[in-house]
Amino acid sequence: MTEALGQGHEFGTGDERLAQLKSRLEAVRERISKATLDAGRTDEPALIVVTKFHPAQDIRRLAALGVTDIGESRDQEASAKAEELADLDVRWHFIGQLQGNKAKSVARYAHVVHSIDRPKLVDALARAVSAEQDATARPAMDCFIQVSLDDDAGSHRGGASQADVGLLADRIAAASSLTLAGVMAVAPLGADPSAAFEKLAGISERLRSAHPGATGVSAGMSQDLEEAVRHGATHLRIGSDILGSRPAVR
Ligand SMILES: *Cc1c(COP(=O)(O)O)cnc(C)c1O
Repeated sequence: MTEALGQGHEFGTGDERLAQLKSRLEAVRERISKATLDAGRTDEPALIVVTKFHPAQDIRRLAALGVTDIGESRDQEASAKAEELADLDVRWHFIGQLQGNKAKSVARYAHVVHSIDRPKLVDALARAVSAEQDATARPAMDCFIQVSLDDDAGSHRGGASQADVGLLADRIAAASSLTLAGVMAVAPLGADPSAAFEKLAGISERLRSAHPGATGVSAGMSQDLEEAVRHGATHLRIGSDILGSRPAVR
């Protein structure tokens, strides 16, 4: 195998994990291309590979295979990996629940946060990114508003209520260190992902009427990427179908 060009020269042809990641990545990329075609779209969504619980060395392998966008959901783990992999040219996406007291840490390495769900978090991130910009000239942080698509509180998977999206959007747009990217959601457990993503598309449309630049729709995981693509996802967050299984998520 001679594909490990660019970043990651260190992986030889005998690296079995590299070969495994390569074939799974290719399979997922093919699914995305097919779903894009089936949806009659010409704009292929961006692939964010979610590496939580998997070692930093796998991110090196993914970068060697051409992956440019990495998703992580816990600050402690993500910040350690970002530090260890500072030489890699990848964009870090924070996709997990975020406490306000972690905003400073996230502002040091994350290019994008997908899980903004309350005004206090907007304020904490705005301050933290602004301070980081003074110190390091980092770019503005791209921010997705995570929306809850649950009607049933019992299967809640996080996110703001739909009624709060407008208020959160205005607050993000007003912060000079933040850029409003769009909306994000996780399909409710046990429900039809297609209906959930259709709902999200409507929320995105309403958001864009007030904020035309906020065109991002972060939706779709290993199990439901086809449905997400069909309903206009611009960013897919794929973990287990590329990395393999991981310990149960909290
Ligand atoms: C873990 C995670 C993913 C990836 O899920 P897979 O089913 O492994 O593809 C996507 N989005 C969020 C918010 C996650 O926490």
